[in-house]
Amino acid sequence: MVAVLAVACGTPTSAPAPPAEATTTTAEAESTGTTAPVDPQDMRADEQAAVKAVDTFWRTHFAEQFGKAYQSPRVEGGYVGANGPRCGGEPSVPFNAFYCGPGDFLAWDEQLMEAGYSQIGDAWVYLIIAHEWGHAIQARLNRDQVSVQAELQADCLAGAALQGAANDGLIEIEPGDSEELAKTLAAVADDYPWTNESDHGNAQERTSAFNTGVQGGVSACA
Ligand SMILES: [Zn+2]
Repeated sequence: MVAVLAVACGTPTSAPAPPAEATTTTAEAESTGTTAPVDPQDMRADEQAAVKAVDTFWRTHFAEQFGKAYQSPRVEGGYVGANGPRCGGEPSVPFNAFYCGPGDFLAWDEQLMEAGYSQIGDAWVYLIIAHEWGHAIQARLNRDQVSVQAELQADCLAGAALQGAANDGLIEIEPGDSEELAKTLAAVADDYPWTNESDHGNAQERTSAFNTGVQGGVSACA
């Protein structure tokens, strides 16, 4: 997955998460289970591009889908370890990403981002941000529009938003992105709160939900 806006700045269009200059020849971490060094600046740039693409998608399409006006959630962005923003009086959880309903904001531990980014590249960052944005969307819906399988619905909304952003020319989705996401979800299963299978479904279920959104759009999720 590549942010189209970044292409204009000279980022190669084919390589997910271009490794640092010195290691370019080792290239493509792809889905081989190898890890590439993470350039924090590249990763931050992908986070910002993901936020912009997903927000723009919902800003453009929320009203036509749900018949009411859209307001962006706040983005608190990255934290490390235990120093994340509190939500409803509760401390943030290390190695997690979350949407805070009481504060209507998104936040994520940069170490969770790195875990998947180093294995598959930027698609991971896009998934996490689009998924948490999905929870923000759920918070804007009527109760009967929110699935009891809220986590899988958030994955579906993530797929719908990312494919929709691609359709709108905001990002490019590369062949194999969802397979790479599936492998990464499996590789980090239960290692992090965000991939805990009992809370979120297993990698296969999550990838299936994501693909439902990719193929069917927002209406296939709600
Ligand atoms: Zn979730």
